[in-house]
Amino acid sequence: METILSVNNISKRYGKIQAVNDLSLEVKKGQVFGILGPNGSGKTTTLSTILELIRANKGDFQWFGEEPSKESRKRIGSVIESPNFFPYLSPAINLKIVADIKDHDYGDIDRVLILTGLYERRNSRFKTFSFGMKQRLAVASALLGNPDVLILDEPTNGLDPQGIAHIRELILSIASQGTTIILASHLLDEVQKICSHVAVLDKGKKLFDGKVSEVLAISDSFELSSHDLEGLKKVVAQHPAFQSITPSSDQILVYFKDEVKAEELNQFFFLKGIILSHLSERKRSLEQHFLELLDDNK
Ligand code: ATP
Repeated sequence: METILSVNNISKRYGKIQAVNDLSLEVKKGQVFGILGPNGSGKTTTLSTILELIRANKGDFQWFGEEPSKESRKRIGSVIESPNFFPYLSPAINLKIVADIKDHDYGDIDRVLILTGLYERRNSRFKTFSFGMKQRLAVASALLGNPDVLILDEPTNGLDPQGIAHIRELILSIASQGTTIILASHLLDEVQKICSHVAVLDKGKKLFDGKVSEVLAISDSFELSSHDLEGLKKVVAQHPAFQSITPSSDQILVYFKDEVKAEELNQFFFLKGIILSHLSERKRSLEQHFLELLDDNK
């Protein structure tokens, strides 16, 4: 799959603060890539670096397999700051101004207004817009010229639940048209609902990256039961990935050191002469995993 962005060992320091620390990332075409981390973990610094708004002290990055250039910049749309438009002008006119600045033609304005659900309000003044609509106009402006990549910094910050839902749907609909999306967020829930891939940052360092579905699929414990509960307890301790067990009156909760598949576990017991009457996988949520990662990085 085509690589859209490669970030190679980027570090950025502000005086004593190491905002980004030896960060490497790879974003492929069509991914919705979440950069997830608590406040101050270096998300905005990372996005500002790859958008060339600031310069890293170390490391480099390539867009579309090449050094950043005027051409590559034209293929990237971004919303990094809170939406800022002329308050007394309509979205249609505001977008014409943006199109002039970015050297795009006006032909795309209706498309982005329709896509962001603002077409009906295209002639209202910007100052009459709700915060959610303002945010969607910022996305519309970033989408002018149909960029290959859209970069969003905390896209749902400050929005009410309805505004959050609108932005989520909008991001997913943009992604479904093949646009690669890179977004920074401190909200697990947001990343879980929108992103296909995630990199977890803390204190400027990447703690983990991978598919969101894989993170969600991490399972390290199983509830097990058998009519021969004593036999079950004995045999489970023989499993190569066995870590610990919490027994209760009619079942056991078993923790494993490594990932174990339910089918494999079922077969393991069967071959040892134990018939399971109950087998249930307990999946760790992204939140648990995230908190554990942050804990380990203390
Ligand atoms: P938030 O979610 O709060 O926006 P973030 O993950 O985006 O946080 P950054 O804004 O990248 O984090 O900040 C990373 C660290 O760098 C923080 O400790 C921040 O205070 C510091 N920092 C960021 N910009 C500057 C600056 N211009 N001057 C000094 N320190 C800065």
